[in-house]
Amino acid sequence: MVEINLDHVYKKYSGNEEYSVSNFDLHVKDGEFIVFVGPSGCGKSTTLRMIAGLEDISKGDFKMGDKVMNEVAPKDRNIAMVFQNYALYPHMSVFDNMAFGLNIRKNNKEDTKKRVEEAAKILGLSEYLQRKPAALSGGQRQRVALGRAIVRDAELFLLDEPLSNLDAKLRVQMRTEIAQLHQRLGRNFIYVTHDQVEAMTMADRIVIMNAGRIQQVGTPAELYNAP
Ligand code: ADP
Ligand code: ADP
Repeated sequence: MVEINLDHVYKKYSGNEEYSVSNFDLHVKDGEFIVFVGPSGCGKSTTLRMIAGLEDISKGDFKMGDKVMNEVAPKDRNIAMVFQNYALYPHMSVFDNMAFGLNIRKNNKEDTKKRVEEAAKILGLSEYLQRKPAALSGGQRQRVALGRAIVRDAELFLLDEPLSNLDAKLRVQMRTEIAQLHQRLGRNFIYVTHDQVEAMTMADRIVIMNAGRIQQVGTPAELYNAP
């Protein structure tokens, strides 16, 4: 299990006066399910994108184990990301969408097939592997996006409001599925939401952000049941 360290991380976008993220300091270990929660614009996505390598870190270090990752290209980070809008390729089958991350890394075809089929089984997608995303329900599409992350066997999973496009009933069901997936994989998850209920039901630890800063960190019980 690799430890994740965000060491006094700052982000200022070029052209902006203000820092979007300031002094973000967090240590993640033991396969924790971490949830970042806070209002729109508080810096949740920016922090996630710095971890994924999609944005440069202005100041501070992001480490996986002892390795400083700041300059490592996104494709060379052992990190899988799931977005709000699924980001599936419409012209590709479910199988090819799930295999995409392995194919660009020139993974062995047999191994790719095996991993995609295993992930499809876990996610209940075995019968849909030859379909195009347009022929799936919202929940199924979100499962494909999760499948694409699972097959990578990443050390860290980043999920940016993955359920916000789903209806309320499906959202509750998918929360449970994601929590079970986390248990099963035993990896560190960082999950971004603006929904406090989602944070409370899913998190081992919650990071409450406001105006680019960490306001509080703690277990759901510590943060919401305090006297
Ligand atoms: P979200 O729904 O995740 O909060 P936003 O609508 O805030 O997403 O942002 C969508 C995209 O626009 C992101 O890629 C983000 O980096 C970019 N973005 C957000 N705010 C700004 C801004 N002030 N200037 C330029 N790009 C921005
Ligand atoms: P959240 O995910 O919590 O909604 P973001 O990380 O998207 O917040 O945004 C944090 C701040 O950074 C906001 O003030 C937003 O306008 C700004 N921001 C985000 N992306 C960009 C960008 N690409 N360029 C300039 N400013 C941005």
